[in-house]
Amino acid sequence: MNKYKLLIIICFLFLTNLLPTAKAWVNNYTLAGKIICLDSGHGGTDSGAEADTILEKDLNLKLAKKLEKELISRGATVYMTRNGDYDLSTTTVNRKRSDLYNRASYINKINPDMYISIHLNATPSKKWRGLQIFYTNKNNQNRLIAETLTDYLKGELSYVRDVKKDNSYYMYKHINSPGILIEAGFISNPNDNYLLRNNNYQDKLILLISEGIEKYFKK
Ligand SMILES: [Zn+2]
Repeated sequence: MNKYKLLIIICFLFLTNLLPTAKAWVNNYTLAGKIICLDSGHGGTDSGAEADTILEKDLNLKLAKKLEKELISRGATVYMTRNGDYDLSTTTVNRKRSDLYNRASYINKINPDMYISIHLNATPSKKWRGLQIFYTNKNNQNRLIAETLTDYLKGELSYVRDVKKDNSYYMYKHINSPGILIEAGFISNPNDNYLLRNNNYQDKLILLISEGIEKYFKK
């Protein structure tokens, strides 16, 4: 065999080895072209719900950052309403309202294909548990997003509550883009609290939410 033939064979073997990798690489970009805005609830002086020393604002941010990473790895462009321990308020009077107003304005300005607000629930009773997704009828896609994700998560996780329409939320009434609020669990419940702080559970949850988002965009 002359060296040119050998070179061609080596090139052929090299390319055929690369092809499956290249195909998998393209297939993994299932959210290419999608703009997603993640809203990590609370921050700064507003800790949100508390249970023992666990603050909702910290876990919200942790989950949002993991979700950001996962969605980017699937090709999405991701915006975050916050990236650290602060809120978005620009006034000291009615600080909470200012924070929520500015979050809604930020999301409206980006005009994403989907926004996801991440919060954790807490109740005086420790018995309530489970992830729950809320939506408003401000955008006609909200219900479909909420139901698609809830249906998918119900098949994969033990404690998922029924999807709920709630038009009373100040912030979500002002967001024009499609999206939902995920209450990822009750930190007042010892089981949920344990899971939400567990790195493996966080990763599993983020993976499932990302897959649920993909299912919605495929519809
Ligand atoms: Zn909250």
